[in-house]
Amino acid sequence: DNRDALLEVNNIEVIYNHVILVLKGVSLTVKQGGITALLGGNGAGKTTTLKAVSNLLHSERGEVTKGSILYRGERVQDLSPSDLVERGVVQVMEGRHCFEHLTIEENLLTGAYTRKDGAAAVKRDLDMVYGYFPRLKERRSSQAGYTSGGEQQMCAIGRALMSRPETILLDEPSMGLAPQLVEEIFGIVKSLNDNEGVSFLLAEQNTNVALRFAHYGYILESGRVVMDGPAADLRENPDVKEFYLGMG
Ligand code: ATP
Repeated sequence: DNRDALLEVNNIEVIYNHVILVLKGVSLTVKQGGITALLGGNGAGKTTTLKAVSNLLHSERGEVTKGSILYRGERVQDLSPSDLVERGVVQVMEGRHCFEHLTIEENLLTGAYTRKDGAAAVKRDLDMVYGYFPRLKERRSSQAGYTSGGEQQMCAIGRALMSRPETILLDEPSMGLAPQLVEEIFGIVKSLNDNEGVSFLLAEQNTNVALRFAHYGYILESGRVVMDGPAADLRENPDVKEFYLGMG
């Protein structure tokens, strides 16, 4: 039943440099209002899948050679990343992707560039972002390059929120962060999902934390989905426990 599907990835194949087959037929669905986790080890193809959706593969000499990607039923494969932002889909890349020489607040404001609804609305959303991320409010005038890794991850998510997205593609938010900060960031993701209705496709190596916050999960291995199901079922699955949760 795909009535409430926002994003549908159907059997996509991705090839880098014309020869390196990395995704070997990946299918997944992101439902409206859900947090969907894309799990798997280093090199499984999580980042490639997100970049295929947001059309960021070209700069890495990658291309989708088979399959289709639909957003709200519309084929989006040939849209530019900024066209996608206008349709409500925005990606937060792995790592620290803030502008280091801008302040936190300037970084957040760069996220509003596609909007046409005026300064008052942008100001309201800046306050909304500061409401979810009080740390960013405290650090609003600091140059982003001098803030911590956790603050920069928050800044990247906050900047994405400034485009008023319907769906955020979030790549490895836990990367390099202390466990307590990971909890804090996932908690904020959950409240954005609950209160603002933002849907998430979340790529994570940290299966444990991702399956506690997500509704549904897909596990990728070597460019294929090897398992999928409601997060609660995956958490109880013996293979997931053994191979991904370290409780075998
Ligand atoms: P990570 O957690 O490291 O980001 P991932 O699951 O997101 O892992 P990808 O980054 O999608 O995995 O990489 C999947 C495979 O594609 C890896 O084997 C990687 O070496 C290969 N790959 C990624 N980018 C390129 C590229 N530009 N050219 C060639 N091969 C690439």
